[in-house]
Amino acid sequence: MSSDRPLRVAVVGSGPAGFYAAAQLLASDVPARVDVIERLPTPWGLVRLGVAPDHPEIKAVSRVFEKTARQDGFRFFGNVGVGTDVTHDELAAIYDAVIYTVGAQSDRRMGIPGEDLPGSWPATAFVAWYNGHPDFQDLDFDLSHERAIVVGNGNVAMDVARMLALTKGELDPTDTTEAAIRAIVDSGIKEVVMLGRRGPAQAAFTNPELKELGELHGADVIVDPAALVLDEASEAALAEERSTARRNVDLLREYSVRTPAGKVRKVTLRFCVSPVAILGDGKVEAVEVVRNTLVADDDGKLRAVATDETEVLPAGLVLRSVGYCGVPVPGVPFDERRAVIPNAAGRVLGEDGQPIRGLYCAGWIKRGPSGVIGTNKKDATETCDLLLEDARAGLLDAADGDLEALLTDRGVAFVPYAGWEAIDARERELGEPLGKPRVKLVRWDDLLSVAGS
Ligand code: NAP
Repeated sequence: MSSDRPLRVAVVGSGPAGFYAAAQLLASDVPARVDVIERLPTPWGLVRLGVAPDHPEIKAVSRVFEKTARQDGFRFFGNVGVGTDVTHDELAAIYDAVIYTVGAQSDRRMGIPGEDLPGSWPATAFVAWYNGHPDFQDLDFDLSHERAIVVGNGNVAMDVARMLALTKGELDPTDTTEAAIRAIVDSGIKEVVMLGRRGPAQAAFTNPELKELGELHGADVIVDPAALVLDEASEAALAEERSTARRNVDLLREYSVRTPAGKVRKVTLRFCVSPVAILGDGKVEAVEVVRNTLVADDDGKLRAVATDETEVLPAGLVLRSVGYCGVPVPGVPFDERRAVIPNAAGRVLGEDGQPIRGLYCAGWIKRGPSGVIGTNKKDATETCDLLLEDARAGLLDAADGDLEALLTDRGVAFVPYAGWEAIDARERELGEPLGKPRVKLVRWDDLLSVAGS
């Protein structure tokens, strides 16, 4: 491709993987134009709508993405659904290459009775609610009960457990929505119990998140020392293992011998327990859990195996935080079992197992919902390197047409980057007098009207 006819690439999804991919393409020696297409009027994906509001330092990565957005050859098309406003086939006709970076937009199921009782929610919905996602603002989380149960031992579980336990003083300087701050501060919750199905040495959360839990203004962290007596296999794994697990266990040991300060709330960490049923008459009233032992698989991985020892924990709210799950994009191959787009290092594979010309993916929809934001940089780079290799080898069909013209013809009110900048400016302006980084616009109407103004 020459600079007269730069490579034209659509990136679908404007989270970290999408922006890292756009940056990579715009920085390459192959002249390229990149259009980032996003269903919401706002960019940054989980950086805006997933990362906990009390972690502004993590959200600050959006400044890197802003630089990409200001580069020549970049365009943003917000408020455009692929599969609704424009089809995949249309994109494939307009662009030389399309990269899907749509993340994992649903949640994994636990598959236990009572999972859908009112009061049992995917943690992802709670996260989207407190972060101001416009599709999640009418959810009615009942926080009036004394005990909430968070299932899972990952960083999302940590985030939601911590958010439930934050005080007004901790929440006020954040961009948590006003409705969520009110609900959390006024909640009747006295105890948040986190349930890990495996042991403390197998927890998926990382050290800074666990450390933070021990520093909350309004909540004591409770760990039973007996839960930290490790089985032989866990001890052996720790002895030669990653420092994260070792440091987690050290921190937990520290917590287990602390005298509770008598704070208003407590966060209790339980290990080797799995929910077997969510109980209640028309709504969540309790969770039945079973005690697990750890058994090594053939590959040495320790797996939780249920014993016959059960226990019922009264609770009014359950947040299921057992992982995100990818959803298919209409017209694009999907591996139902792994909930990802089937691919070889980012080249999307067809039913015959061969790469589909001009079709790529990156981020969680490529590898599954794991890793931190930075992981997507390496991931997107891998995909873009292959895309550029294909471009140089003449393996991409030079496409024709323009998305802007197509959307305009169709009457789709897309939000350009300047529209997002208007939203961003308004939100910051609203936040300034309150000492917050921003007050998010959380309604579609407000977002679209400010973007259009
Ligand atoms: P995750 O790290 O994969 O953790 C999922 C947790 O759910 C694990 O503890 C897993 O236990 C447990 N689990 C799975 N199925 C279960 C079941 N049926 N019953 C009980 N427990 C079950 O996923 P995540 O917390 O959703 O986070 C996704 C990614 O985003 C992770 O890479 C995470 O580190 C990252 N993230 C990072 C931050 C941060 O940096 N602050 C914040 C949020 C998210 P097993 O280990 O036994 O499978």
